[in-house]
Amino acid sequence: MSDAPRRPLPEGLRRETLAVRTALAPSQHGENSEALFLTTAYVQSDAETSARKFSNSEDFTYSRTSNPTVRSLEARLAALEGTEAAIATSTGMSAILLLAMGMLKAGDHVVCSRSVFGSTINLFAKEFGKFGVETSFVSQTDLAEWQAAVRPSTKLFFAETPTNPLTEVCDIRALADMAHAAGAILAVDNTYSTPALQRPAEMGADIVMHSATKYMDGQGRVMAGALCGPNKLIRDVFGPILRTVGMTLAPFNAWVVLKGLETLALRMKAQSEQALAVARWLEAQPQVARVYYPSLPSHPQHELAMRQQSGQGGAVLSFDLKADTPDAARAAAFHVIDSTRVISIATNLGDTKSIITHPATTSHGRLTEAQRLSAGIGQGLIRLAVGLEHVDDICDDLARGLSTLNHA
Ligand SMILES: *Cc1c(COP(=O)(O)O)cnc(C)c1O
Repeated sequence: MSDAPRRPLPEGLRRETLAVRTALAPSQHGENSEALFLTTAYVQSDAETSARKFSNSEDFTYSRTSNPTVRSLEARLAALEGTEAAIATSTGMSAILLLAMGMLKAGDHVVCSRSVFGSTINLFAKEFGKFGVETSFVSQTDLAEWQAAVRPSTKLFFAETPTNPLTEVCDIRALADMAHAAGAILAVDNTYSTPALQRPAEMGADIVMHSATKYMDGQGRVMAGALCGPNKLIRDVFGPILRTVGMTLAPFNAWVVLKGLETLALRMKAQSEQALAVARWLEAQPQVARVYYPSLPSHPQHELAMRQQSGQGGAVLSFDLKADTPDAARAAAFHVIDSTRVISIATNLGDTKSIITHPATTSHGRLTEAQRLSAGIGQGLIRLAVGLEHVDDICDDLARGLSTLNHA
């Protein structure tokens, strides 16, 4: 047995330290790496203790309600986002489900950017539409559209920034002020930037939502999600719903993400720098019509993005190929994608391995061509989630297809 369990952490530690150190106290063995507790139940010393613990959700009774490894992840996430609390969920989508179950009832109204993750749009419009919740989808960047959509029944503003695949940025502070003036709350999907680059709660957001499946795990292994916010929402509203409904994060997945958070800041910085180098290289290629990446001065919200995202662009960029017709554009995009030998052809992001996608036929494939065009997602658009391979190997892999396009 260890006779030196970890002493409590001092106040005022910096974010990099909290990312490595925040967790529950170690067990009696004094393990330095946080333990993985694979257990569904927790043995109590007597019936009286068991009764007391069941009436207090802070104690461990059953792992649908909570688990020490999951609790360590929640503590670390809250420390990184600068919120009072966090609650972990099985996926990013189940975090949004928990948010919607906690904040909305029949007759309520949501204002949401129309550029958010596709399943998020389905969840609000289709699944909650069934229960009498109405959602207005508005421009990612035009604040006047958000304001005009507000109704007396508006309870929730939902934003994601930057967006997939065009990296459009919205003004978190302005949306928070607008939501609060309307008597609503603002939830921000912070999956792309992570707290290493962007902390929406510092800009007035009430809830910060994550798909931890992406950069928090960071190596493409497990699914996970989370909501971060004040105790009065996380502990008092979302906790009891999760306990009833069971969108609980598995301890193993929590443990993988907990370890991922220890290198999050390093990976986000390195992958952002690589993405900027690739974006600059793409801008100089004659076959490329346009590159979408927040760190480029050509990005329409460049200054806002740099202010909100700690001066970094994140690791996702997209680019449009020059072509005369949609068919030619699609053929060109497929040629560039199919000519890669290093980059993975997949529909994920947030991995150390670079991933290339054709949004018009995958993530946005269920839209009509007209909807796609109004969203700016043409057949010549390619999304690249930049990983940690050598940046020259990434550019060489793209050059394989770009340099042979005219012969394709
Ligand atoms: C992937 C993703 C989600 C959904 O997360 P899952 O973990 O796949 O359920 C939500 N929002 C964004 C921005 C995402 O990239």
